Amino acid sequence: MIEKHIQAGGCLCGAIRYQISGPMRDVIACHCQQCQKSSGHHVAATRVAMTDFKLNQSTRLKWFHSSRSAKRGFCENCGSNLFWTKEDGSISIFAGTLDQPCGLRLSKHIFVEDKADYYDLTDNLPKFQKNG
Ligand SMILES: [Zn+2]
Ligand SMILES: [Zn+2]
Repeated sequence: MIEKHIQAGGCLCGAIRYQISGPMRDVIACHCQQCQKSSGHHVAATRVAMTDFKLNQSTRLKWFHSSRSAKRGFCENCGSNLFWTKEDGSISIFAGTLDQPCGLRLSKHIFVEDKADYYDLTDNLPKFQKNG
């Protein structure tokens, strides 16, 4: 968790830019099947309060409803995956879209029971079968 400051980020082509002005949760890696399919590997995301999150440019932002309660935000131009939210007052932001340095650390792995078979988890971070 980082208390601070202003953190910016955006998609690969630059059409989507956002700004965070509050605490950011440490990064969690999610290995569920939806994250595999949408990201091409697994997702690593921080999370911030919606009140600390501001979209500066978003005309190319599209939302895909990946379940009844959650949706995923991506750039329709370059295909970058940026956001996941349940509209519960917070938003998960995919860590690779943060401008560097972001100062965060990977803290744990979740949904490891759904992990794809082509890689192993070799770090010593906590691992949870489902949502940790
Ligand atoms: Zn883009
Ligand atoms: Zn996931």
